[in-house]
Amino acid sequence: MAGSPSIADKLVSGSAACGARSNSSSVAYCMFSRYGGSSEGRFASLNIAANVGDTAAAVAANRELVKRQAGVTRLVSAHQTHGTSVYCLKTPIDRDVTVGEKNGCDALVTDVPGTGLMIQHADCQAILLFDPVTGVIAAVHSGWRGSVQNIAAKVVGTMTTEFGCDPADINARISPSLGPCCAEFIHYREELPEHFYQFMTSENYFDFWKISRSQLTRAGLLNGNIAVCEVCTVCCRDYFSYRRARPNGGVTGRNCSVIALVK
Ligand SMILES: [Zn+2]
Repeated sequence: MAGSPSIADKLVSGSAACGARSNSSSVAYCMFSRYGGSSEGRFASLNIAANVGDTAAAVAANRELVKRQAGVTRLVSAHQTHGTSVYCLKTPIDRDVTVGEKNGCDALVTDVPGTGLMIQHADCQAILLFDPVTGVIAAVHSGWRGSVQNIAAKVVGTMTTEFGCDPADINARISPSLGPCCAEFIHYREELPEHFYQFMTSENYFDFWKISRSQLTRAGLLNGNIAVCEVCTVCCRDYFSYRRARPNGGVTGRNCSVIALVK
């Protein structure tokens, strides 16, 4: 069929059944492209960020589309600040909420069914975590600053201590994000810790997909339970990219990734 791509055209999605200790029947996740929404211009078309210059009406409409596609009635999003604050949702909510408005928040964890955890990203990684044994899920915003602070391991720790997960049961899915082809850090000696240097692929270029995989396995995840999309948002025009937009002022939309427990 002719016309613009739909929300499902470049969607990366998956699901897994939950075990007896869980109060949900399965976990489902969606990593959305920029297609199928109602925003225009630089935000065309599925921008879900309210603070980048898009109209509030378009963002609200896009979030409704995301909820419908993800099969959820509520969304929790975060005021992301490249920090390491983790928010745990332990009781059901009756409306969409944004957490961390005051001090920032970059990771969401829950065992409540029917509520989607949403990460907004344009080159940063959304790391979606789920434990099918206990039915606990998490969504993590990890850009290079998040990688430096190892927010991924911190969230695995929260799932373990707060929700009783065994890291060996936790699965991870890493969204389309900055690839080694485009992750140039000319000031890496100031910005990145020395133990990242082993992930340098060529002069000044780093593989943050491998860095995240390494951090997750060190946190106790099994290598076989980690999957990386390996789609670079800078190269692939199906996605919003901050780095690609930077020569034009850096104004662009945000992609989103959502994970939820469904009955
Ligand atoms: Zn690239």
